[in-house]
Amino acid sequence: MKAQPKASHFINGSFVEDEGGRAIDVLYPATGETIAKLHSATENIIELAVESARSAQAEWAALKPIERGRILRRAADLLRERNEELSRLETLDTGKPIQETLVADAASAADALEYLGSVVAGFNGEFIELGGPFAYTRREPLGVCVGIGAWNYPIQIAAWKSAPALAMGNAMVFKPSETTPLSALALAELYIEAGIPAGLFNVVQGYGDVGASLVSHPHVDKVSLTGSVPTGQKVMALAGGHMKHATMELGGKSPIIVFDDSDLENAIGGAMLGNFYSSGQVCSNGTRVFVQDGVYDRFLNRLAERTKTIRMGDPLDEDVQMGPIVSRAQHDKVMDYIRIGRDEDGARLITGGNAPKMQGFESGNFIEPTVFADVTDDMRIAREEIFGPVMSVLRFSDEDEAIARANDTEFGLAAGVFTADLSRGHRVVSRLQAGTCWINAYNLTPVEMPFGGYKKSGIGRENALAALGHYSQVKSVYVETGDVASPY
Ligand code: NAD
Repeated sequence: MKAQPKASHFINGSFVEDEGGRAIDVLYPATGETIAKLHSATENIIELAVESARSAQAEWAALKPIERGRILRRAADLLRERNEELSRLETLDTGKPIQETLVADAASAADALEYLGSVVAGFNGEFIELGGPFAYTRREPLGVCVGIGAWNYPIQIAAWKSAPALAMGNAMVFKPSETTPLSALALAELYIEAGIPAGLFNVVQGYGDVGASLVSHPHVDKVSLTGSVPTGQKVMALAGGHMKHATMELGGKSPIIVFDDSDLENAIGGAMLGNFYSSGQVCSNGTRVFVQDGVYDRFLNRLAERTKTIRMGDPLDEDVQMGPIVSRAQHDKVMDYIRIGRDEDGARLITGGNAPKMQGFESGNFIEPTVFADVTDDMRIAREEIFGPVMSVLRFSDEDEAIARANDTEFGLAAGVFTADLSRGHRVVSRLQAGTCWINAYNLTPVEMPFGGYKKSGIGRENALAALGHYSQVKSVYVETGDVASPY
C-alpha cells in the first residue's frame, strides 16, 4: 500500500521538497506498513511558505467577497467529485473505516467551503447613526493565518480553518499533524485546480517545533490550533507573547446525561456514537455518560449487547464499522487507561478492554470498544481525556446532581442530554458549561452551527458566521458631516 505524495510541502502552487528536514514516516494504522516518507520543514521552507502567503494575500483580499466565495464553492464541488479517492487517502492516513471517511471527512470539508463561500458576501460591517455624523465598520482580513491540525479529522480540520480564512481575504500556511500529513496536500492541489491563486494555501509538514516557528514568525498574524489542551496552552502563550490573534480548538471530557424518561435505544445509540466513532478519537466525545437510577441496569445491559455487535477490521471494507487507533503511541496510551480503569480506579469493565489481533492485520493498532460501569467522578478514567474507544458510565439520581457533576471538569467542549421532557432538555442545557450541546442527539456538527469550547477546551469558534468573525478584524470609521467642533 503506497500513498506517497509528489513532495512533502506545497508552496506557492507547487510541491516542494527539502530533504534537510527531519524524516516523517507515514504508517497505515491497520498494518503498520510505511505508506509515505516525508520531511519536516526546514527554516528555509517555513520562510518560503510565509512569504508566498504574504505576497499572494493582498490581491486576493481586493477581490469582491462574492468572487472569492464563488471560487471556494468550486473547490467544494471538486471535493465532492473526488470524495471516493480522498476518503481512501484519509482511511490510509488515519485508519478510520472507509464507511466513515466517505461521509464525514472530505464531505464535511466541502460543506465548510460551500457554506462559508456562500455567506461571506453578506458578512459585512455595520452602519452606525450618530445624529448627523455617522460611523461604519469594515470587516478586514488579518493577513497571513497559520492553521495547525490534529490527526483525527485531517482534511476536515484543514478546510474548517482555510475556508473562513480564505473567504475573508486572508492567506494560510497550514501544518498538518505529523501523524496524518497527506490529505492537506491533496486539498492544496485541489484548491489550485478550483482557481484559488497560488500562495494562498500552503502546506508545510513538521513536528511541534515547526508549528512553534510558524506561530512566532513576524509576518504571521493569527494562529488557529486544533489539538490537546497542553499544546493549546503553549501555542496560546507563544501567540500572546507576539500579540497575535488565536483560536484554540482543544480537548474535552464531555458529559452525556440520560434521564429515566428518555428513549433508551436512542440514548444508547447516541452514547455509542459519542464514544466509538473514529475509534473514540473525537474531541467532542461524551466519554462520561451519566445514567439515572431508574434505567441504569437496563441501559448497561442493552449497551453491552449492542456494543458487542460492532464490526471491527479492515478499514477499507465498507461493512467494517471500527478501525484501529491512529498510532502505536496512542494505542498504548489508551490501553494504559484501560488498565488504570480496571486496576487503579477499580471500575467495572462490562465489555471490551482488549487489543485484538485481527486476522490479516496482526500489526494493526486495534482496541475493542470498551465500557466501564459504576465509574465515580474522582476516577482518572472519568477526569482525563483518553481519546480512544473507552466509555465511562456513571450513575445519578436527580437533575441538580447530574448538572453539578457534569460541570465538575476543567473541560467544556460539548455535552448531551437525553430526555422526553422538552422543558427539562432546554433547562439542563442552559446550565451546562459547554460550547456545543445536543438534546436527544450527539456529535452532530453541521457547518451552519458554531463549534468550540468553554473553559480549557478552547477559545473562539469554528464554522458558521462566527468563524468569519475570527478571521477578520473590525475597523471603525467615523464620518463628519458638519464642521469640526474644536475648542481651539
Ligand atoms: P497535539 O496537541 O499533540 O498536536 C496538535 C498539533 O499541534 C500537531 O500538529 C502538533 O504537531 C502541533 N504542535 C505540538 N506542539 C506544538 C507547539 N509547541 N507549537 C505549535 N504546534 C505544536 O494533538 P493531537 O494528539 O494531534 O490531537 C488530539 C487532540 O486534539 C485531543 O486532545 C483532541 O481532543 C484535540 N482535538 C480537538 C478538536 C476540536 O475541534 N476541539 C478537534 C480534534 C482534536
